[in-house]
Amino acid sequence: VPELPEVETVKRGLAPALEGCRLAVVKARRPDLRFPLPERFVERLTGVRIDRLDRRAKYLLAHLDTGETLISHLGMSGRFTIVAKSAAARPGDFYFAEPPDPTHTHITLETDAGVLVEYNDPRRFGFMDIVATGDLDACKHFKGMGPEPLSNSFSAAHLEAVFAGKTQNVKATLLDQRIVAGLGNIYVCEALHRCAISPIRAAGRIAARRLPALAGAIRDVLAAAIEAGGSTLRDYASADGALGYFQHRFAVYDRAGGPCPSPGCMGVIKRIVQAGRSTFFCPRCQR
Ligand SMILES: [Zn+2]
Repeated sequence: VPELPEVETVKRGLAPALEGCRLAVVKARRPDLRFPLPERFVERLTGVRIDRLDRRAKYLLAHLDTGETLISHLGMSGRFTIVAKSAAARPGDFYFAEPPDPTHTHITLETDAGVLVEYNDPRRFGFMDIVATGDLDACKHFKGMGPEPLSNSFSAAHLEAVFAGKTQNVKATLLDQRIVAGLGNIYVCEALHRCAISPIRAAGRIAARRLPALAGAIRDVLAAAIEAGGSTLRDYASADGALGYFQHRFAVYDRAGGPCPSPGCMGVIKRIVQAGRSTFFCPRCQR
C-alpha cells in the first residue's frame, strides 16, 4: 500500500511531465475504479491545463485551470506511469523501463507536449474524484483530517492537545487520520521505535516532555523515506518499475525476531497485533 512518502514521490515524479501542460486527450476505459468516476470525467479534464501537482495525506492532487482539482488515491496497487518519451519527459524523470500489464490500464492522460501518463491498477482499490479547488478542505475526503506531518501545523503542542485524556494506545491513535494526516502502519512503527516510545502505551499517558521527540521522529522517518524515493527516481533505469518501498531499510517493520538496531540495545523485535494491524517494536528500549 503506498504510504505518504510513496505518494509524495509519485507527485515529484509526475510534476515535470504534467505541471503547466494541457491535457489534449483523456481516456477512461471503464466507468469506475473503486468508486464510479465523477460525472463527465473525460469532458472535465480534456483541454484543461494542470497548473500544479500537490499532495494531501495519501492523495495526489492536480490543480486545474478550471478551478477544479483532480484527486487520485492509489489504493492498494494503483500506479502512474509515464510511457511516452518526449522532450518533456527526459530520462531521469518518472519513467518506468517496463510498462505494467496494459489490461489494467484504466485511465490515460496525454498532454499537449506529447507525454502519455497511464493509470494502472490491477486490484482497483484506487479512485479518482474531481472537486472544486475552493471546497477541498470541506470535501468528503479531507473534512476533519488532521495536519500534514511535514507541515508547520504539526508539532509537539498539537500532539499534546489531541492526546490529552486518550486511553487508546499511541499506535492506533497515530493511525487515526483526524490526529495526523497520511500516517500509515509502517511509518508509525518506525517513528515510535526511533523515539523509544512503546506502541502499547496509552496516548494520553505519554509525558509531554517526550512529545517533541515523537513529533521529530515522525517527520524524520517520512523525510528519510521521501529522500529514498527521490534516489529511486534518479536511478529509475535500474529499478524494476514497481512503485514499492524503494528497498528502504526499516528498523523494526517486518523484522520480528531480528536484533533491535538501537545502539546498545540487546532487544529482539517483536510483532503484536493492535486494532487488526501488525505492530513491530522493541519491548526492551521502547517504553
Ligand atoms: Zn531496542
